[in-house]
Amino acid sequence: MSKDENSMSAKIFSLQAELLWASVPPAVRPTLLGNVWCGQCRTAVEIVDYSGKEKAGDLILQGRCAVCDGRVARLIETADRQNPLI
Ligand SMILES: [Zn+2]
Repeated sequence: MSKDENSMSAKIFSLQAELLWASVPPAVRPTLLGNVWCGQCRTAVEIVDYSGKEKAGDLILQGRCAVCDGRVARLIETADRQNPLI
């Protein structure tokens, strides 16, 4: 499993998603990324090659399951943060 951040261009975040992700405490991020429900594995898995977008003030991460390579997504509720930039 490669963690090369420079050569991978899969992490595409919209500007709004970038701001929302920045509002998530760094200590919490690994927990969110490593606890995404996969419908095929029927368990919580790690999301890889993910991109982010904003919807109604919440952050949606869309990527692939680290186990089965299937598509997974995670909604991160940040709407209650009242981010004045959005
Ligand atoms: Zn899976």
